[in-house]
Amino acid sequence: MIKLNNVSKWYGQFQVLTDCTTHVSKGEVVVVCGPSGSGKSTLIKTVNGLEPFEKGEIIVDGISVGDPNTNLSKLRARIGMVFQNFELFPHLTIRQNLTIAQVKVLGRTEEEATERGLKYLDRVGLLAQKDKFPGQLSGGQQQRVAIARALSMDPIAMLFDEPTSALDPEMINEVLDVMVGLAQEGMTMMVVTHEMGFAKKVANRIVFMDKGVIVEDCAKDEFFTAARSERARDFLAKII
Ligand code: ADP
Ligand code: MG
Repeated sequence: MIKLNNVSKWYGQFQVLTDCTTHVSKGEVVVVCGPSGSGKSTLIKTVNGLEPFEKGEIIVDGISVGDPNTNLSKLRARIGMVFQNFELFPHLTIRQNLTIAQVKVLGRTEEEATERGLKYLDRVGLLAQKDKFPGQLSGGQQQRVAIARALSMDPIAMLFDEPTSALDPEMINEVLDVMVGLAQEGMTMMVVTHEMGFAKKVANRIVFMDKGVIVEDCAKDEFFTAARSERARDFLAKII
């Protein structure tokens, strides 16, 4: 579903990604972890074309992301992305947040979009909040709305960039529970997170990055029991 072949990227003179190669198969959950500044956000943003890259190739569902002829907005509409800071529209109600892209990007009617949006809002347990504004919800609730909004677009895959790292500790699990449910239903997911409990529960593979390089890319059990690199072992020792 997602394939990266030798992707390299520079911010000016600074090389942020070096020859990154990995993949996410259909129905697979890949957790990306590594120290702060190692390039995880940059990597995940290249997958849906939010960040350009200079070398290598990224193929999503058969479409080349780096090809100048690729319609990136069309591709992006099919990939759900959930960020650290929720990124809901503050001036729109929860219901409007859920429907706006369905109507504007997918051309659904207001009625279809509302039905679909509220179905997912119900699924994340927040149907009763539909007429509130984002600022009236807790961080954990806002992040669940952001997930429901992404799901309303019928994505072929979901990308998460540290979805729980801006949350108070007591709200982390309500978001992780939604993500675990998605993973168990077979959603294709690439998840940047340091929540190793989540990784242990649902990840198929773990990608460990350091200084823009994919240092490890292996099955979950192998990563936790026999991480080959010293850097990965150091990282695990610090966070677990
Ligand atoms: P991570 O998500 O692993 O913390 P990032 O992908 O955000 O890492 O950043 C990787 C490196 O690239 C960091 O050194 C960061 O300072 C740098 N960086 C990120 N965004 C930019 C940018 N827009 N311009 C220049 N440097 C950037
Ligand atoms: Mg980041």
